Amino acid sequence: MRKSLVERIIRADVRAQTSYLVPDAHGLLKLDAMENPYILPAALREQLGQRLAAVALNRYPVPSYTHLKQQICQHLGVPAGFDVLLGNGSDELISILSVACAQPGAKVLAPEPGFVMYQVSARLAGLDYVGVPLRADFTLDLSAMLAAIAQHRPAIVYLAYPNNPTGTLYQAADIEAVLRAVGEDGIVVVDEAYQPFAQASFMSRLAEFANLVVMRTVSKLGLAGIRLGYMAASAVLLQEFDKVRPPYNINVLTQAAAEFVLEHHHELERQAAALRASRSDLVAALERIDGIEVFPSAANFLLIRLANADKVFAGLLQRKVLVKNAGKMHPALQNCLRVNVSTPEENTLFLAALRETLANV
Ligand SMILES: *Cc1c(COP(=O)(O)O)cnc(C)c1O
Repeated sequence: MRKSLVERIIRADVRAQTSYLVPDAHGLLKLDAMENPYILPAALREQLGQRLAAVALNRYPVPSYTHLKQQICQHLGVPAGFDVLLGNGSDELISILSVACAQPGAKVLAPEPGFVMYQVSARLAGLDYVGVPLRADFTLDLSAMLAAIAQHRPAIVYLAYPNNPTGTLYQAADIEAVLRAVGEDGIVVVDEAYQPFAQASFMSRLAEFANLVVMRTVSKLGLAGIRLGYMAASAVLLQEFDKVRPPYNINVLTQAAAEFVLEHHHELERQAAALRASRSDLVAALERIDGIEVFPSAANFLLIRLANADKVFAGLLQRKVLVKNAGKMHPALQNCLRVNVSTPEENTLFLAALRETLANV
C-alpha cells in the first residue's frame, strides 16, 4: 500500500511523539504552570501601553538587540566582560544549543526527573539523550552523575538550579564537581529559570569555568507571555551559538516591553519577595495536614506527595483548581502533585479545596 503524505515526509520519531499538551484552564484557579499571579500596577501598565504604541511595527527588529542586552546585563547581575544571547523563551535557547552541538554521536545528559524540553530538544536535533536518576529524595546523585559523565562524555549537561518539577536546589559544590568532570569535553548549562525565588546563582562565577553557560528566563518572574530568555557564557561560545539563532527571534513588542519592565525591575523583585514569603506560609500550612510530604523547594512551586494523588488531582479539578499531576510526568513522581505558590488569597483557596478533597477521598 502506498504510504500517506505524512508517512512519506515526516520523520518516524516525530510522528511517534506526542504534542506538548497544555490543559484548558478556562474558569479554573490556575496553579499548574509556575506563572507569577501578580500583574504590573495600573500606572505602569498605562505607561507600557504608550511605550508599545510608539513601536514601529512596520520595521524588522535590529537583530543586535544591543540596548535590551545591556539592560539585562546591568539589572540582572551578568558579570562585567560577559554578554547574553536572547531567545524566544529559554525553550528556544535550549533548541539553539542542541542544534549547535549536534555532531554525530554527541550526547546530552541531565538528571531525572527534570525539565522535559532538554530531552525533547536533544532528540529533535539528533543528539543522544542520557537521563541520570536523582536520589529518592530528589537530591543530586553526584557519584551517579560523575560515573555517567565519565562513561558518556556529554557535549551538554543540563542542571536546572533549582530543578523543575522537584524544586530542589542542588548543592553548589556538586555543580562545581560536574563542571570540573565535564571539563573541556562539554558545556554545563545551569538553568536558572527560578533564580528570583532561589536567590542562588552561578552567574557571578562565569569567569571561573570556561564551560559554564548560565541560562535564565523572565517567564517565571512575571513575563511568561512575552517569551524572553537569555543565556550568558564566554564570548567564544556565545559567538557560535549566535550563528544558530534566527536573526529576528525577539519581536519588537517583546523587546519594548522587556526594556520598559527592566526600568521598573524593583516591581518584579517586590513580587518575587512576596512569593518567597507566601512559599514559607504555604509549606507550613501543608505540613499541618496529615499525610502530606512537602519536598524542600527553592522555586515558586511546591512538589508534594500524598496518597491517591490521581483522586486528589481530580477532586481539586472538580473544585475548579488546576495543579500538575506530576505522577504522569515520571515514574519517580508517583503520587506527587506540583502546585504553584500564588497570592495569599489563592493559596487559601487552594488549601480549602485540598482539605475538602481530602475529606472526601
Ligand atoms: C519554565 C522553564 C523553562 C522555560 O522557560 P521559557 O523561557 O518560558 O521557555 C526553562 N527551564 C526550566 C527549568 C523551566 O522550568
